[in-house]
Amino acid sequence: MNQKTFSRKAVLLLSASLGLAALPSVVSAKPAVPLITYDQYGLDLAGRNTSVKPGDSFFDYANGSFLKTLEIPSDMSSYGPFNALAETSRQRIQSILKDLSAHPVDQPKTINEKLGTYYASFMDEKAVEAIGAKPLEAEIATIHQIKDLKTFAQFSGASATTFGSSPFSVDVDVDAKDPTQYALSIDQAGLGMPDRDNYLKPEFASKKAAYQAYVTKLLTLVHWADPAKSAADIVAFETEIAKVHWARTELRDPDKTYNPMTVAALVKSTPSFDWMTWLLAAGVPEAGLEQRTVIVGEPSAIKAEADLIAKTDLNTLRAWQAFHTASNAASFLSNPFVQARFAYAKAMSGQPALAARWKRGVDFTSAAMEMALGKIYVDRYFPASDRAAMQTLTGNLKAAFHNRLEHNTWMSAQTRDAALKKLASFEIQVGYPNEWRDYSDLVVKKGDVYGNAKRAFAFEWHYQLSHLDKVVDRNEWLMSPATVNAYNNPRFVEVVFPAAILQPPFFNPKADPAVNYGAIGGVIGHEMTHSFDDKGRKYDDKGRLRNWWTKEDEERFQKLADRFGAQYDAFEVQPGVHVNGKLTMGENIADLGGLTLALDAYHASLNGKPAPVIDGLTGDQRVFMGWAQVWREKVRPDTEKQLVVIDPHSPPKARVNIPMHNVDLWYKAWNVQPGDKLYLAPDQRVKIW
Ligand SMILES: [Zn+2]
Repeated sequence: MNQKTFSRKAVLLLSASLGLAALPSVVSAKPAVPLITYDQYGLDLAGRNTSVKPGDSFFDYANGSFLKTLEIPSDMSSYGPFNALAETSRQRIQSILKDLSAHPVDQPKTINEKLGTYYASFMDEKAVEAIGAKPLEAEIATIHQIKDLKTFAQFSGASATTFGSSPFSVDVDVDAKDPTQYALSIDQAGLGMPDRDNYLKPEFASKKAAYQAYVTKLLTLVHWADPAKSAADIVAFETEIAKVHWARTELRDPDKTYNPMTVAALVKSTPSFDWMTWLLAAGVPEAGLEQRTVIVGEPSAIKAEADLIAKTDLNTLRAWQAFHTASNAASFLSNPFVQARFAYAKAMSGQPALAARWKRGVDFTSAAMEMALGKIYVDRYFPASDRAAMQTLTGNLKAAFHNRLEHNTWMSAQTRDAALKKLASFEIQVGYPNEWRDYSDLVVKKGDVYGNAKRAFAFEWHYQLSHLDKVVDRNEWLMSPATVNAYNNPRFVEVVFPAAILQPPFFNPKADPAVNYGAIGGVIGHEMTHSFDDKGRKYDDKGRLRNWWTKEDEERFQKLADRFGAQYDAFEVQPGVHVNGKLTMGENIADLGGLTLALDAYHASLNGKPAPVIDGLTGDQRVFMGWAQVWREKVRPDTEKQLVVIDPHSPPKARVNIPMHNVDLWYKAWNVQPGDKLYLAPDQRVKIW
């Protein structure tokens, strides 16, 4: 029941936006929480809890007082700087959309008219209520026509452009072994809950019950026969799917998930599903289809899922489509659908209140035309001087990384030279893309909330499909400039920092440089290190998935990574709930690398001069504080438990305490001694980059 989105699964994000997006998109009614305030040099010193020893828990020392009084807004599942800035972005986009929607037109032509009309139509709640469930009727009628596995495959394939669902996902992505080309990929899918663990682990039993209640409710709303029985069948069907799905730790392995084969070979190896019908219905070109290469992500899961579908009662398959179609469309329908969806979201995340309509309107309009809004956002809110300042900073971080690699003690000269070559080929993009997306073919109609959303999905899918058989477009961004996040695209050997993250506390051109290096410097270092984490290191200087490491270097790297992972495995999020060191490995390595590089780059920026002491804090102390305050976040317990299962990032406290206690300078800066809770003997500290 994910809100329908298209993803590039290889891309590595800075924070959990992907994981949270797996929950229904619900975001607030209360006025926005005021932005956290920072003093003139960039830190919130009053937010510290100085009764905690830095060496016992640096996270609590740096953020304790702030977190003690922080109340998560009722329409959010967590709150911290990422949410605060996302809220700022949302308010800014609202003001843009308010301007544009002052005069909605029946048949908008310009992009501004389309944005304004999309938003204004969504905001016309009365009209949406008056239409009720009517927009769903045609799709539900089509589902009733599913009479065999072929028509099921057809409806599932066509769902790339409808609110329907599919037991397998199809994507167009940059080919991991030839990043100059795009390739079609097929992956396991079909679950309504965020992860297989939600179906299989007893600790999620109450969530599974809430999900089944949600399925029943939606089937009731679309007048499906015997909704309770059908819901039980659907959940049982998805539980069987969950059993054959690969775990997320396996999905992280780019080698294991790269299984190219022709469509003909897929048809031959997995005959129980009608792949040709499915792909044609998705709009994949018919010419040469059998000979087209597809990258199959999880061959054993896909085969088992196909076999499972073939022996599942058609009544269940139809009901499954009816539920998912209603669920995917719910946010664009009348209040009973919206409330049903939110009741489930609330059970999953613990978030008590549904987001105000304007916030949902902003989010959905953004999802439909994010690059168009991103362009206006940049024009209004992103000063050109920030781009220049960031380019200088990223240059300094890159130089620090170069220096680290050059002096690396555990790599052979051969691997090290290749690593330096890879670093040299890095592309760093700041603020906004070089080229903007064209939305002229997207049709928006006044008053057609459901149709507008559906056409936006279809538009997006056709855009993805249009990449097939073309040379890769390296100008393309996978995130809007108005997003508070950053990413590393391993197949482009590229790191991207959207405009919206370039604000305090991450980036503040007026702040003390030490704070800036600890915050955005750490973020830049984090993204760069991704190219050398346990996953990113497998791509070479051209972004090709190819082993460029000697066997000995690989073993040495793995040993370090395993030791580091064990520190996270031991971290308890809630009593009995531990971080998964394997799932979070790449992000953890990036956090350690980010912090290390931030310190190096800050020291280099001093040009041999001593760092000033400000408010009793040394330069290094302020770098550590800068990093720690970026991650000052409170998460609702239900959300926290879910994130441990689906989020490749460790929880905020681990992102501060664990990297720090591996860094020698942290001990020196804060006089951390044996006996302090975070103390690690020097030979226990892990140094990777
Ligand atoms: Zn990351």
